[in-house]
Amino acid sequence: MGEKVKPLYRRILLKLSGEALMGSLSSGIDNRVLEYFTQEIKQVHQLKVEIAIVVGGGNIFRGRTAGDRGISRVTADNMGMLATVINALALQDFLENADIPTRVQTAIEMRAVAEPYIRRRAIRHLEKGRVVILAAGTGNPYFTTDTAAALRAAEIKADAVIKATKVDGVYESDPVTNRNAVKYETISYLNLLNLGLKVMDSTAVSLCMDNNIPIIVFNFNQTGNLLRVVLGDKIGTFISQ
Ligand code: UDP
Repeated sequence: MGEKVKPLYRRILLKLSGEALMGSLSSGIDNRVLEYFTQEIKQVHQLKVEIAIVVGGGNIFRGRTAGDRGISRVTADNMGMLATVINALALQDFLENADIPTRVQTAIEMRAVAEPYIRRRAIRHLEKGRVVILAAGTGNPYFTTDTAAALRAAEIKADAVIKATKVDGVYESDPVTNRNAVKYETISYLNLLNLGLKVMDSTAVSLCMDNNIPIIVFNFNQTGNLLRVVLGDKIGTFISQ
């Protein structure tokens, strides 16, 4: 028998942006990406790590950018939240096709398609080994799904917010435009906020800071990385006090 692998985290909150679901498409959902995400999540689920997922909606609709199209900010944000439900339902089917039990809970009630978000019930699902996909953000306009991730992580007492991105972590400047940009292996919440590094919005970072929940930013596009993060490998950037 090989060495027994022991995850560092017992319960995680995984944040998947809507944009990530697009893959190389210009909008919408790329099934190949969902298939890939499913396999990555499965590896961690098999270790009996409890997984809650907050999905974004930027691949379908983003509130902030809709203001100039004659739609009010609040309406646009409501539309953005509905977009996250669409993504959550797609992700649910992919996970279930891979024999991973799931529940979708939405912060905006729509009982025909998903459970309403009920904190205690979400925790119960996690304890029973179900992946809980949390949709509709916080249920309030003017927030983001990053903030929803921080909020839900605090509510369900997750050990970490794990933010999936397409870069290797937090850089001092954009690694795409500056090839010499240095990556932070660790950074404090306050430094991140003071330097104005745009990894997560400041509301999300502050919420994690106030509740002492570490944030790990990592490259989800590399096979096995989610598992490595959960096992405590030092990849990506670790954000804490
Ligand atoms: N949104 C909101 N309240 C929330 C979460 C999200 O109003 O608590 C809206 C907001 O308009 C946002 C959109 O939903 O632009 C999609 O979420 P987000 O942009 O965070 O998705 P991501 O960037 O992760 O794809």
